[in-house]
This record gives sequence, structure tokens and C-alpha cells, in this order.
Amino acid sequence: MALSRTIVIAGAGIGGLTAALALAARGFRIVVLEKAERLEEVGAGLQLSPNASRLLVELGLTERLAPRAVTPEAVSIISARAGGELFRMPLGEAAAKRAGAPYWVVHRADLQSALAGAIADHPDIDLKLGAAFEDVAPHAHGLTVVHRSGTIRRSDLACALIGADGIWSAVRQHIAADVKPRFSGLIAWRGTFDAAELPQEYSARRVQLWMGPNAHLVAYPIAGGGQINVVAVLPGSWNSPGWSTPGEAREVMEAFAAPRWPLAARTMLGAVESWRKWALFGVPESCPWSAGPVALLGDAVHAMLPFAAQGAGMAIEDAAVLAGHLSLEAAESEAGIEAALTQYGLARQARVRRVQRTARQQGRIYHLTGPFALARDVAIRALGPERMLSRQDWIYGWRP
Ligand SMILES: Cc1cc2nc3c(=O)[nH]c(=O)nc-3n(C[C@H](O)[C@H](O)[C@H](O)COP(=O)(O)OP(=O)(O)OC[C@H]3O[C@@H](n4cnc5c(N)ncnc54)[C@H](O)[C@@H]3O)c2cc1C
Repeated sequence: MALSRTIVIAGAGIGGLTAALALAARGFRIVVLEKAERLEEVGAGLQLSPNASRLLVELGLTERLAPRAVTPEAVSIISARAGGELFRMPLGEAAAKRAGAPYWVVHRADLQSALAGAIADHPDIDLKLGAAFEDVAPHAHGLTVVHRSGTIRRSDLACALIGADGIWSAVRQHIAADVKPRFSGLIAWRGTFDAAELPQEYSARRVQLWMGPNAHLVAYPIAGGGQINVVAVLPGSWNSPGWSTPGEAREVMEAFAAPRWPLAARTMLGAVESWRKWALFGVPESCPWSAGPVALLGDAVHAMLPFAAQGAGMAIEDAAVLAGHLSLEAAESEAGIEAALTQYGLARQARVRRVQRTARQQGRIYHLTGPFALARDVAIRALGPERMLSRQDWIYGWRP
């Protein structure tokens, strides 16, 4: 008996939903399991550089996404030590022309709902909410994937299982139980404020990156420009899992105290109504990408520090590469599926590792203190906007 042409994807985050659309376009029937009852508006802003936006455009998402996405004109690199902007790296038209796709910033919920909307319209994709992946058993006809909705256990027959279930992946437990996320010692604090609340300079269509002693701050408009997303990154020892733990404004304001941090940064932080925090973990580079007919994708295999702004981008790229390797012909045999999934992992590893390392290195640079911060500022100024943009070519110019 031939294998089923169904692929089960665990996780309806950005990676899982993109993979569902990309694999359905290759002729597969897709079941997406999502443990949450609803795709809620948890989270805040995500940056989608051209390497990722290009793939979303190719999947036909422009109409659903563009009205909610913002195209920033530039990234302002600002040093708390120098008290102002070091320079502005052009994004907008400049980045789009160079890389052939837009640079977008978007609320995670807007991206997720654009993807979910396209999935709802697709006859070959079944999104099951409130269905947590629980177990997988291989047999002669493929895999039986077991999931739980409340007290009820159900199963689906599939030729492959894709674990897109995020940093605390249950699928990863099945193929690499010894791989555990590692705490980085850093905590991201996130909040938003109404763009109309502060003078225009605070809500310009720019990504602002503020570097300072042992901390940094990123701010950009989301929700069509109506809100400003603020993320402050600080060292700390609190390391509970989760994306949305309420946090005390006082703690953030103390970390960004004057005179080390200029008034403009403190004004922006002060405008945030309520803070949420999440501890920053990474999945070790040694994590395997696949085992037999089971593969991992996105944060499940390579959760990284967000300082290269590529967490969502890498998950979207994974989805495209995975779909490029899986075909209905490959799915005719177990050996074909396994070979395709192995090739997928091999195709992704080197690039993702380089991005993970870049993110770690950028975090160290952003948080430099004393004479090291001075040297950093001089070096960044000397680099200038054009050379800074060309240094991103290997990330933004990528194609599957
Ligand atoms: C609620 C939430 C809020 C976030 N907010 C931000 C943010 O503000 N800024 C930022 O940079 N990044 C945020 N992220 C992370 C960001 O979305 C990811 O780094 C990136 O998009 C890669 O996504 P992913 O699809 O690999 O994983 P994720 O986006 O983490 O998605 C994983 C999905 O799998 C589901 N899942 C987990 N376990 C199971 C299971 N056993 N069975 C079925 N489903 C399961 C989860 O509910 C989730 O929907 C957030 C992630 C989540 C889950």
C-alpha cells in the first residue's frame, strides 16, 4: 500500500502556517495541529526582511498582509553613549530595490491571521485548533500522529510529521530528547504605545535601534503605523518559559536610567502602557533537523536570540526549503521521505548557524560599555549606511 499523501504539521505559528501553504502548493494534503484554542493576539512586532517577505509574496499573501505591514524607510542606529544617531541605514525603496522584495515590520498576530486566512481558503489544508500533538508511531504505511483535544485523543495517518511547535517543541522531545533550550541570561521586555501619543519624531517610519551599556532598545511602527512596538533587552536571571508574562514598568525604567540613557529613549519607554516580558532562550546548534520521517522547523530546531531580527524569517525560509525538497514522488516511499527530510536539514544548517552566530555577536556589540562602546561607535560611523546595507546582502538577498 502506498504511503498517505498527508503531512501533519504540529504548530500553527509563523513557520507551521507558512509550511502548510508551501507544502499544499506541492500537492500534499496538510493537517495542522495547534494546541491553542484560538490564534490569539499574543506577541507584538516581527521584522520581515526581503529574504522572508519575498517568500510570502510568492505564496500570494501580499493582499492580505500589505495593508497591515509597515515599510520602514530606514534603520536609525543610535548610541546612548554618543547621545544620538550614528547614522541611518536606508531600508524602504533602497532595500527593496537591492533585494527585490520589501522590508516589512508587522504585528505577529497580523502575519499569523494573514497566513491563517489563506489556509482557510485552501481546500487541502485542515487547521485543527485546540489539538496538541502528543505522540507519533511509525509503521508500514507511514506514521500515526496522535493529538489531544481536552480529554479526547485522536490520530491522523501521515507520510511525514513536521515539528513547527516552537522553542518548547514536543516533537523535538521525540527525536532529540536530550536537546534542551538554553537560557541566554537576557530578558526581552515588550510593549506598545499609540503613535498619536508622542510627537512625530517618535512614530516616524523607521526602525530605531538604541545601543547602550548592558542593554538595548528597538522600536518601530506596526498595525499600519497606528502603534509603536518597543522591545527593551536587559540582563536578568528570571527564566520562566512563555511569551507574555506581565512585567513592572519600574524595572525597565531603572535599567534605562538617566544620565546613561538620553531623554528620547526614556520618553518612549515611559509611553508604554503595559509591559510583557519573555526570557530569551536558544536551541543548541547540535539539535538534529530530522530523524526518519519526522523533521523540525523554525524555533523548534533553531530558536535564536532576536538580535539579527531573523527568528520569523528563518522559519519562513525553512518552510520554503522544506517544500522544495518534498515532492509527491519522494513521498511514494519511506526512503524517499527520509532522504528528502535529510536533504532539507543539510540545506539549512550552515545558513541558520551563521544567522544564530550573527545574532549573538550583535547582542554583544549592542551592549558594550566604556571605551569598547566608543570604539564601536567610531567603527559604525566609519562604515556608513551603504556599506552597512551591503553587509546584509547575504541575509536579505537569499533565495531558496
Ligand atoms: C505566543 C507567541 C508570541 C510571540 N511573540 C513574539 C514577539 O512579540 N516578537 C518576536 O520576535 N517573536 C515572538 N514570538 C516568536 C516568533 O513567533 C518565532 O520566533 C518565529 O516566528 C518562529 O516561529 P515558529 O513558527 O518556529 O514558532 P512559534 O511562533 O513559537 O509557533 C509555535 C506554535 O506551536 C504551537 N504549539 C506548541 N506546542 C504544541 C503542541 N504540542 N501541539 C500543537 N501545537 C503546539 C504554539 O502554540 C505556537 O502556535 C512569539 C511566539 C509565540 C508562540
